Amino acid sequence: MRKVTNAITVDVEDWFHICDIETILPPSQWDRCESRVEKNVIKILEILSKNRVFGTFFVLGYVAERLPEVIKMIAEEGHEIASHGFGHIQIYKMTPDEFEGDLTRSKRVIQEVVGGEIFGYRAPEWSIRKGTRNSLWALPILALNGFRYDSSIAPLRIIGIPNAPRKPYTIRTDHGKIEEFPPLVKNTLVGNVPVGGGWGLRVFPYRMIRRSIGELNGRGMPAVIFLHPSEFDPDPPKIPLPMVKRFVCRGKIKSTEERVERLLGDFPFGAIREIYGGSP
Ligand SMILES: [Zn+2]
Repeated sequence: MRKVTNAITVDVEDWFHICDIETILPPSQWDRCESRVEKNVIKILEILSKNRVFGTFFVLGYVAERLPEVIKMIAEEGHEIASHGFGHIQIYKMTPDEFEGDLTRSKRVIQEVVGGEIFGYRAPEWSIRKGTRNSLWALPILALNGFRYDSSIAPLRIIGIPNAPRKPYTIRTDHGKIEEFPPLVKNTLVGNVPVGGGWGLRVFPYRMIRRSIGELNGRGMPAVIFLHPSEFDPDPPKIPLPMVKRFVCRGKIKSTEERVERLLGDFPFGAIREIYGGSP
């Protein structure tokens, strides 16, 4: 069987970049919060370097502006840098103009820090959706602004488009093509469940995650794994999160590192730019 390279990705954001907690911690207070990104990113870089793997780091523009040296360090180690937007706002909460402003601001700040072009994007909380939260209009805006791939459509119920493809696919827009890289999900009797990152990667049995990747790879398709620096932090500052958010952000948090190590040992991994087909 042909070896398929899977994608290992990291959303470079701080412990307080959690969607829908504006009433608990509004963005106006972010500058006063202790940043925990650097030491957690260093942990991730050590794990990747030990396994000789390069990954894709979707950097939040806010973090690139506040901690440019951290983003430089990631780029200097040879990893791919992409955008996670600027202000960590779900796309469907913005107008197309506001989205374009957030997107281009992140691109400008990140490119200035790394001194090179970026062409990948991932929205906060998989927020390219259909239906009442329709934000498919974001795709042509991405193409118009020089982005060539996206990783913002989760094939999931609540936080995605449930019937979206589970493997990478091409989306044609009026401004050009976008390659879409969905996060790994497992198809079950109750629909797709998230196993490629977050609480799903930490909580579901490892053999289930392994099988999901094996199934995709067996069809010649890569799996996309996603991580957050705060998942490598045993003791982040405490905020009073609602129960579901607490579980999503912190449930079984200690298993992240072990899971990632096992995955890197069991499958070949790389950055999305490698899977995309080399340099654009
Ligand atoms: Zn995020």
